[in-house]
Amino acid sequence: LVSRENHAERSVVRVGGVPIGPGTMTLIAGPCAVETAEQTLGAAQMAQAAGATLLRGGAFKPRTSPYAFQGLGEAGLRILADVRAETGMPVVTEVVDAADVELVASYADMLQIGTRNAQNFALLQAAGESGKPVMLKRGMSGTIEEWLMAAEYVAQRGNLDIVLCERGIRTFEKATRNTLDISAVPVAQRLSHLPVIVDPSHSGGSRDLVLPLTRAAIAVGADGVIIDVHPHPETALCDGPQALVDGDLRELAKLVRDLPPIV
Ligand code: PEP
Repeated sequence: LVSRENHAERSVVRVGGVPIGPGTMTLIAGPCAVETAEQTLGAAQMAQAAGATLLRGGAFKPRTSPYAFQGLGEAGLRILADVRAETGMPVVTEVVDAADVELVASYADMLQIGTRNAQNFALLQAAGESGKPVMLKRGMSGTIEEWLMAAEYVAQRGNLDIVLCERGIRTFEKATRNTLDISAVPVAQRLSHLPVIVDPSHSGGSRDLVLPLTRAAIAVGADGVIIDVHPHPETALCDGPQALVDGDLRELAKLVRDLPPIV
C-alpha cells in the first residue's frame, strides 16, 4: 500500500489543510514538550511569525529516564487545542499508547508516532483507525524497509495519510545525538509514494546543527522539516539544548523560504 509500485505519483498529505508532499517544504515547529500555556503559545507565535504552518508539541513524552518530565497528558492536549484556536495552526502531537489514540486524535490534527514506538504494531494499527494523518518517525535502529513496513501497518487499517520522518539513527558516532541518515530521504521517496520529512532537532541534538541539517534536508529534496523551538530553552523541561530561539528560527525560516529546491 505504501510502495511506489502501484502509485507512480508521490502523494500529498494534508494536515488541517496544510499540504506536505512533492513541491512543499513544510515547516513544522513548536516546543519539544508542552510545559505551560504561556510557553506553548510563545513557541507557536515564534514559529508562526517565522513561517511555520503546523505546530508541534508533545503532551505525552516518551523519555529514556522514568524520572524525566513525562508530559502533561490531556492537560497538554487542551493547551495545544487552545493555542490552535488562537493561532490557527493545526497541531501535530505524539501518541505513545494504543489506549490513548482516541483521546489524542480528539485534539490533534496529526498523530505522531515516535522513534521508540516505530514497531509498536498495536499502536500503528490504532493510529491507522484514528481517522487522522499519521507522522511516522523512523525507529532509531530501524532499517528503511522496517520503517516502510511500519507504515504498511497504518495503511492496512485504511489510512494512507502517512508522512515519514527521518530523525537520525543510532550509530557508533557519539559527536551527535543521532546520525542523520540523509540518504534515507531519497531512498524512501524512491520506494514509497509517501511524503518524507526530516527532524534536524532530534537527529543532531544541538541547536547549532539545526540549520546545517535543514540545508541538507532541502538539498536532498525532503518535503518538510520539523523543528523544536522554545521561548526560553535554558528552562526547558525537555531537550532545551536543541531548541531554537527566535533569531535562529527566523534564519532557518528564511532558508526554507528562499532556498529553491535543488534538482
Ligand atoms: C519528538 O519529536 O518529540 C521526539 C521524542 O522525537 P523522537 O521520537 O524522534 O525521539
